[in-house]
Amino acid sequence: MRLETKAIHAGLDVLKESKAVVPPLQTSTIFEHDKEGHKPGDLTYTRAQNPNRAQLEVLITDLEEGAATATFASGVAAAAAVFQALEPGNHVIMPQDVYHGNRLLIKQLMSRWGLQADYVDTTDLNKIEEAINKQTKLIWLETPSNPLLLVTDIPAVSELAGEHNISVCVDNTWPTPVNQLPLELGADLSLHSTTKYFGGHSDILGGAVVARREDSFFERIRSIQITAGAVPSPRDCWLLSRSIRTLPYRMRGHNENAMRVAKFLQGHANVERVFYPGLESDPGHEIARNQMSGFGGMVSFLYRGTREETIQAVGRSMLIMRATSLGGVESTWEHRRSSEGDDSTTPQNLVRISVGLEHPEDLLEDLAQALG
Ligand code: PLP
Repeated sequence: MRLETKAIHAGLDVLKESKAVVPPLQTSTIFEHDKEGHKPGDLTYTRAQNPNRAQLEVLITDLEEGAATATFASGVAAAAAVFQALEPGNHVIMPQDVYHGNRLLIKQLMSRWGLQADYVDTTDLNKIEEAINKQTKLIWLETPSNPLLLVTDIPAVSELAGEHNISVCVDNTWPTPVNQLPLELGADLSLHSTTKYFGGHSDILGGAVVARREDSFFERIRSIQITAGAVPSPRDCWLLSRSIRTLPYRMRGHNENAMRVAKFLQGHANVERVFYPGLESDPGHEIARNQMSGFGGMVSFLYRGTREETIQAVGRSMLIMRATSLGGVESTWEHRRSSEGDDSTTPQNLVRISVGLEHPEDLLEDLAQALG
């Protein structure tokens, strides 16, 4: 099946007891045992497994062309499970401008647990190679990255990692499987904050880790999902599966609108620089063209002004909502440095836009009046 068809049909047979076209929501936390006791594979307790979660996991596995998926209560819970599946003392290579929540996770939690991390420019293969040591077990990629939209060559990094027996995990939240398939490009894991485009309506929190192989590393992630218990509720799984049905069409709209917005910003006198891999002038464009089928809905730009003037420009929007996060049908933007806090290295005049599905002309009119 092709992507659009899979988004609508994959996983439905997990709930085969029912003939309902729309899968039922199963909120029960417990499942009755047979008279003879329960057998391996039987449902017992919702933290261990639930029909709505099972369906969601099959659906995401199919979309990502993977072997198995573990879903979580948030994107950072998914990332935490990947880090905890390593051993204390292991070393990970992280992108310099990695999503700041994952940086905090390592700084505040995983470093106390004994995980070592180095932050490098992952767009430069030499920098990655220099950072590898005997304890390096994981290379984390975010491409395009948050918020600078830097593009990393997934096949090249995966090949290098393979030579050193290191796993590669790609945070695929921004592109989604509609625009990029990391596992086909050679990565071992593809991670999502399903809070973003998968949910698509800014009303569900969730995360997922998809594995290329059901190997021992993934088995550890699965066991952390169940034992640590940061699992999504059946209701959120049900809602997420519903939202994913329209993901391919929503992503096409996000891709088209973001390209219009990026081109508009590129020609604007009050914009110093635009970051969007869909622009031919973008340094990551060539690699993005090779590994992405669309360039996504996120655009960042540098406003020609101070921190205060940038915050004022964001404050003038009338249609684009001032909010963090991304991936909803509504357009949002933010002065990114304010969201990231004190240790952020994001430029003071950077604005990050999550381009939604409104009519593009309405978005451009709002940008024009806000930017002056
Ligand atoms: N990865 C990326 C690229 C993100 O942008 C985010 C959230 O903004 C996350 C992971 C974390 O996801 P969550 O907020 O669902 O924990």
